Amino acid sequence: MKLESRLIFRTMSRVPQLWKFSSGYFFLFVLLLAATACRAPGGKVTGVTPLNEPAPVRLADKPMPAPPAPTETAKPQLPAMASGPLAKPAPRPPTLPNGWVPLEVWAGTNGWSKPRLLDSTTTLSYALQSTNHSSRFTIGSREARVDDADCWLGFPPKLINGRPHIHALDLEKTLLPLWSRNGELPIRNRVIVLDPGHGGDDPGSRSVAAMRFEKEFTLDWARRLRPLLETRGWHVFVTRTNDAAVSLADRVKLAEDVRADLFVSLHFNSASPGVNSAGLETYCLTPMGMPSNVTRNYADDPNEFFPNNAFDEQNVQLAARLHRSVLAETNRTDRGVHRARFMGVLRGHNRPAVLIEGGYLSNPEEAELIGTPAYRQKLAHAVARALNGLLHPESSRLTRNER
Ligand SMILES: [Zn+2]
Repeated sequence: MKLESRLIFRTMSRVPQLWKFSSGYFFLFVLLLAATACRAPGGKVTGVTPLNEPAPVRLADKPMPAPPAPTETAKPQLPAMASGPLAKPAPRPPTLPNGWVPLEVWAGTNGWSKPRLLDSTTTLSYALQSTNHSSRFTIGSREARVDDADCWLGFPPKLINGRPHIHALDLEKTLLPLWSRNGELPIRNRVIVLDPGHGGDDPGSRSVAAMRFEKEFTLDWARRLRPLLETRGWHVFVTRTNDAAVSLADRVKLAEDVRADLFVSLHFNSASPGVNSAGLETYCLTPMGMPSNVTRNYADDPNEFFPNNAFDEQNVQLAARLHRSVLAETNRTDRGVHRARFMGVLRGHNRPAVLIEGGYLSNPEEAELIGTPAYRQKLAHAVARALNGLLHPESSRLTRNER
């Protein structure tokens, strides 16, 4: 049984009264949230292209059909791999009953200090502390601080009878995986697929600093990153090696064909209107039952279940691991780890899959920075250090929380 499962069981067995919220009330709440799902801060974001692909898979449906054949640009040369099926958890919906958990009860049951009120003038924020972890939650805000990175929750914490509560799904799918050690990422074949976003007739976002486009910078990022991984033992495949158009389905299919352990998509962001948005964001798929942080005109349905939802916990562990490393290397603004359903390049995977936005091409300062080889080398080093730490935890220079 995994750590989080044990923790959850302990909590549930000691405080059964937490789970007595009516399911009807909860679903009404979820539908209301889905209908009013918020936009990303900073206005309309256009850094990642929404997809033209089949309708999402429902829980009761069969898995997504196999995408078309791979492109000429990324023929896999398979390394010797472990036999048998890839180790992967069976797809499953959330296991916790839906409801709100009193922070104080959860903390006391699991050996954390009592929640400490940080600010009561404009916002109500609470700090939680354990031996190895610290977190901060603000009533009414989905933006939380989990150790040394921002992480967006599915539901804003709220006061019930004057006491701070957090949603059970956020505990199960985000907080407990991040508070546990990251050793559960299923690395079996040391195979990783890097996905330089866009390409060919899809240029991605244009830099405001020069007539240059996202597709050029993502490809360069992948080219710099690849050798840094290969020298430490990864078998690296890339979805494109030149300025070629590659469908999102083919990007997913390559990872399936080479039996990749991990999939990492590389992008740069853009906000319209406005030049003020800046910083780093990392995305992974929204767990079932939870509204997304970012929807970008996608009909975000919490009842949808995608193949990649089998990796909800590992997705957020990988996302946070990469996010922290890139933050530490670049010192850019932390815009957080986000959950989203609209990114089709993530949804169909049978492996942990994340998407990193390495800065805003619509922000003059960051556009200049992204245009420099030195910054893109920093991005490559940051991602390599986080990924290589999975294979060589003893030699990585990771912080306490990244081990
Ligand atoms: Zn993009």
